[in-house]
Order: sequence, then C-alpha cells, then structure tokens
Amino acid sequence: MQSYDAIVIGAGVIGSSVAYHLARLGAGKVLVLDRLQIGSGTSTQSSGILRTHYSVIENVELAKRSWAVFNDFAGYLGDEEQSAGLVKCGYLICAPEGPKLEPLRSALAGQTTMGVEVRLIDQAAARELLPIAQFDDAALIGYEPEAGFADAYLVATGFARAARRQGVKIMEGVNVERLLMDGGRVVGVETNQGTFHSSTVISTQNIWAGEIEKWTGVPTPVKAERHAVLALEGPEAYSFKMPVFKDLGSPGMLYCRSYGGNQMLVSEGTVGETLDVPQNEQGDISMDYVVEVGAQVAERFPSFGEAGLASSWTGVYDVTPDWNPVLGRLPDVPGLVVGYGFSGHGFKLSPGVGLVLAQEALGLPTDVSLAPYAHERFRSGNLLTGRYGMGAVS
Ligand SMILES: Cc1cc2nc3c(=O)[nH]c(=O)nc-3n(C[C@H](O)[C@H](O)[C@H](O)COP(=O)(O)OP(=O)(O)OC[C@H]3O[C@@H](n4cnc5c(N)ncnc54)[C@H](O)[C@@H]3O)c2cc1C
Repeated sequence: MQSYDAIVIGAGVIGSSVAYHLARLGAGKVLVLDRLQIGSGTSTQSSGILRTHYSVIENVELAKRSWAVFNDFAGYLGDEEQSAGLVKCGYLICAPEGPKLEPLRSALAGQTTMGVEVRLIDQAAARELLPIAQFDDAALIGYEPEAGFADAYLVATGFARAARRQGVKIMEGVNVERLLMDGGRVVGVETNQGTFHSSTVISTQNIWAGEIEKWTGVPTPVKAERHAVLALEGPEAYSFKMPVFKDLGSPGMLYCRSYGGNQMLVSEGTVGETLDVPQNEQGDISMDYVVEVGAQVAERFPSFGEAGLASSWTGVYDVTPDWNPVLGRLPDVPGLVVGYGFSGHGFKLSPGVGLVLAQEALGLPTDVSLAPYAHERFRSGNLLTGRYGMGAVS
C-alpha cells in the first residue's frame, strides 16, 4: 500500500504550485498525479499576462502576492537556474465615456487602497508608453508599472522541479479514476496505475473538475469555454518595452501584448464557445473571427490595419458563474481541497493560490482568506461577480 501525507491531482500551474508550497511548508510525503504531463493541460495555452488590476478586490491581494513571486521567481524557489520568462513591461488599461468608466475608476482606486502602484495618465503619456496605439476616445487611463507577462509552461515546470528537489513525487501518465472514501471522508485515490492512500487530496483539475461531481455528487459549477488567441504581424514593432494593453472600449474588451518583434498577441476578453465535453484540443478559428478582431485592433492600432495573421491557437477556460475560482475545502467531502474555475485568469494568481491551498490542506491559517472563494457562494448567492460584466478581466 502506498501512503502519502497529501496527494495533488493535476500538474498545471496551480497543482505544481500547490505541490511546491506543500513541500515548503513541510507537508511530508507528497504525491502529484497527472494523466498527461506537467503543464500539458490548459496552462500551456495561456497568454501569460500578469497584472493586479481587478474589479473584484479580493483578487487584487492574491495577484499582488503572486506578482512578488513572479518578480523574483529564481530567488523564491532558491534556484538561480529557474526563470518564469518574465517580461516586466507594465499594464495599461483604458475606458471611454460609458458603462466601463466608473468600474475602471473604482478598480484603480481599489488597487491603490491595496498598496499597488497605479498611475492615472493622460492620452499623451499613454502614447509615449505605447506609441503604436491611439487614445483619442480614452476618458480614463490607468498604468500599472509592476505588471507584464510570463511563460506558464516555465512556471508549471519550474514549480514542479522545485517541488521534486524537496522530495515531492510527481507521476505523469497516471489518471485518477475516483476518490476513495471511508466513513464519509477521503482516504485516497484510485488510478489506472493502482491505489494511493492519503487523508488529504487536493484537486486542481481545471476544466476536468466536473469529475469531482461524478465522484462525490457535489455539483461542480464549471463549464469549459474555448477562446482564440491571434498573433498579428504588423508594420512596426510591439516591443517588449511596450505595456500589455487592455481596451475596455472595444466590443471584445481586447487584451494585447508584445509577441516579439513586430508581432502582437491579441484576444477578446469576453465570453467564448462553450464545449459540451471538457477537452483542450485545438479548435477551428474562422476567418470571420480574424476579421472581426482585426477590425477592432485597427481601430486602436491604426498601422495594424495592414497586419497579417502570423499564428493562432485556441485554449479552454474553466468558467464559473461569476468568473472567479472556487478555492478551499468542500464541506460535504472532508479531506478534499479544491482549486478550480479560474475562468481565464488563473496564471497570474498561481503562486498565491498554491500557497493558500497548501496552507488550507495542512490545516494552517491561510495568508489570504478563502471565505470569499468558497463553493458555498453558489448556494448563498454571495457571488464574486466583477464590475466589467462576464469576462476574464473580472
Ligand atoms: C487561451 C488562454 C489564455 C489565457 N491567458 C491568461 C492570461 O493572460 N493570464 C492569466 O492569468 N491566465 C490566463 N489564462 C488562464 C490560465 O492559463 C489558467 O487559469 C491556468 O493555466 C490553469 O491552470 P490549472 O493548473 O488550473 O489547469 P491545467 O493547466 O489545465 O492543469 C490541470 C491538470 O489536471 C490534469 N487532470 C485533470 N483531471 C485529472 C485526473 N482525473 N487525473 C489526473 N490528472 C488530471 C490535467 O491533465 C491537467 O494537466 C488563459 C487561459 C487560456 C486557455
């Protein structure tokens, strides 16, 4: 019989971070199981944007703590060879007159209250930061210098490597088929490669979290939603020095960032295509969609009106009804801790979430309260809905 102090299901950025933090907190024998490979779920599909901007104030704290880790990933992991692939280029966000203006104003004020450096800048200053864009319609512009983007695959494998160095066992190609229960509490997992025992199981299964519902009967309020990401090659550089940009004025609430050289990575921040079955294989991207996004890009970045499509991919979000994650224990299933429903913005939270889920699993006080993220909120109606409407900006 193989027994562990804790078992983590899933080795994406969240599961790998949980595993590392369990080891760091002295959890004892820790096992991580992934049915494929480290980072091979939705993490590798991430656009990698890191910001602390949120209209849901609870998220600012998690994002802030996570940013501190991204900003010194090697130092945090105590391994100079580690890199998150961080490009610290800042984050620019703007809104025109209209319904997004007051939510933006209050979110920027909220960040300031939380101790985040945020500058309100005018159109001329915005053009200096991002000279390839025009801001003629911008009624409010916020700039967050401590932000940028990083590489989610490097982060998932980085946490996994650091966890392994501290003795965590990570098994790839192992599919968890059900939770083992005894006397109403979790006692382990059954897999395609045998049974592993533990009284503490942490599920970080992302779009596959619906399996928890099959195993336990507790509803999993998550749907799999496909989104497309485009890399456009323009006539001038979107350099690594130019900030990530969030355009609350565009119909698709576009987000844009450098993809190196003259390439811009761009995607819509609105609702995507719901999938009947959770799977992260590549989907089709229609020419109509490329034209629709291209037209929005050209409005903001005039020279990109003549950009071409360099590459593209699809990725799948684990979306909850309020576009925020479920974190913590499921009271009906003692021994089970969950972290799912990141709704397209889980990468930027992954270091902080890994820490607090590890603390919760070990029965320690959590650095950030998990109460707002409780599964219970879908019963009580005390939701964490953001002020920008449904979408990953949250
Ligand atoms: C297109 C796209 C763009 C995004 N852009 C951003 C962004 O700019 N910024 C940001 O912060 N976030 C972004 N995100 C979101 C972010 O990438 C995700 O929230 C995060 O990567 C999720 O990590 P995870 O560990 O929960 O999931 P995954 O990486 O999907 O990991 C889950 C793992 O669980 C394993 N698993 C599931 N069930 C089982 C089982 N029964 N047995 C064994 N293993 C199992 C899977 O194989 C998988 O490896 C984006 C996401 C997408 C798709």
